[in-house]
Amino acid sequence: MIGIVVKSTGSWYVVRETATNKLHRCRLRGKFKNKGLKVSNPLAVGDQVEFTVEEQTEGAGVIHHIEPRRNYIIRRSVHKAEHAHIVAANLDQALLVVTLVSPATSFGFIDRFLVTAEAYSIPVTLIFNKTDLYDEDLADYQDQILKMYKRTGYPGLRCSAETGEGVSDVDALLDGKVSLLSGHSGVGKSTLINALVPDLDIKTAEISEFSDKGVHTTTFAEMLEVRPGTYLIDTPGIKELGLVDIPPGQLAHFFPEMRALLNQCRYHNCQHVHEPGCAVREAVEKGKIALPRYDSYVSMLSNDDNRH
Ligand code: GDP
Ligand code: ZN
Repeated sequence: MIGIVVKSTGSWYVVRETATNKLHRCRLRGKFKNKGLKVSNPLAVGDQVEFTVEEQTEGAGVIHHIEPRRNYIIRRSVHKAEHAHIVAANLDQALLVVTLVSPATSFGFIDRFLVTAEAYSIPVTLIFNKTDLYDEDLADYQDQILKMYKRTGYPGLRCSAETGEGVSDVDALLDGKVSLLSGHSGVGKSTLINALVPDLDIKTAEISEFSDKGVHTTTFAEMLEVRPGTYLIDTPGIKELGLVDIPPGQLAHFFPEMRALLNQCRYHNCQHVHEPGCAVREAVEKGKIALPRYDSYVSMLSNDDNRH
């Protein structure tokens, strides 16, 4: 049988059988090594697997094959840098939920997320939530920000998870895809998931029934069914995509609007800060590269905080 891992709690996996949409509680047979990857978990949410359900295992399935991943995101442990795990695999896109108020999401946070997603080759759409709280000025400001990111290659939508305004646009964006939902806590992720996933309580209860009962599972990623073929991956407790070691000299490659200019700088090893003849800085001065984006670049370069 073929299925997709919808939750993993370490020793047990909940797998959705593709042909029937039924959930199965599964174990992994034998040792699986992630080639070239030092991670603590062999399997993650979103992995496509082959499994069998045998009578002697009392209905539990046994996973015996993992399909190669199209992409994946990794999380490094805050405490032990060498401990990393795969958060999710085979994503079609990531939606980053942000807001301009209570609490305002910083450009620094947004741009770090975009750089990481760029490194993982995962397309991102920005979802501006809480639009019901915006006054006219804030609405204008949001339009400018939406335009700025759109020009850079990142589309955006606005919605209010609370009033339901714009939620159907978010739903349309999800259609037929596996989407990762991310965002700072407090931006309205849970409210949005509630608005998007019908019968959310029943579905999450059903999934947790199949996962390891002894383990507190709320911090594990979970793939929720919006409708057959359309899935949302929720990653409670994880606000950022993590672990991409980008050498400072390559950081600009992960800013699409800078990438196009890199061979026009006078020095091939230009880091686009103080060097003369820098095409990136020239573009910033001419307004072709948005200043907040350039500021994020400089901040990531100097803090080296793109590693977290
Ligand atoms: P999460 O931490 O990202 O999951 O955020 P929650 O969904 O828990 O929302 C945080 C707070 O913001 C809650 O008090 C929600 O009721 C509120 N909230 C969420 N979405 C909206 C919205 O669109 N408009 C308004 N006014 N409040 C919202
Ligand atoms: Zn330069």
